[in-house]
Amino acid sequence: MWKSWPSIKSKPVTMEFEIPTNRTHKFWDYLEAGEFRTTRCNSCGTLTFPPVADCVNCTDSDIEWVELDGRGEVAAFTHVIVRPTSFQERPPYTIVIADLTDGLKILAWIEGSEMTEVEVGMKVQLKAGKTVDGEPSYWFVPE
Ligand SMILES: [Zn+2]
Repeated sequence: MWKSWPSIKSKPVTMEFEIPTNRTHKFWDYLEAGEFRTTRCNSCGTLTFPPVADCVNCTDSDIEWVELDGRGEVAAFTHVIVRPTSFQERPPYTIVIADLTDGLKILAWIEGSEMTEVEVGMKVQLKAGKTVDGEPSYWFVPE
């Protein structure tokens, strides 16, 4: 039998973190320049996203920044109608996971298409640049 315990409601909680990026900060510099780059290990060739300072496969720190071709196909998507607090000012949006020809799966917003047009297998292109708020970012557009 389900028992309901007495409770009180807390105030809303806002969380904000300082994320150290000293060894991968170039990622945001490249985005601002309109380039989507991530890291590849020069020892074993492992391509990684998000970018890393040390290889996730062999732990070597001999890492190079490579620009991705960025073409791919939608593997999964979701429409976000009920937005988190930080996105309340924006209209509903769609997030996709795409399989890139570069061999990575990337999750990002898709811009430039109606929600009803997004489907699994849709060809997309990864873009980099600044948002309308001037923040470096990346997103997909229909190819
Ligand atoms: Zn490696």
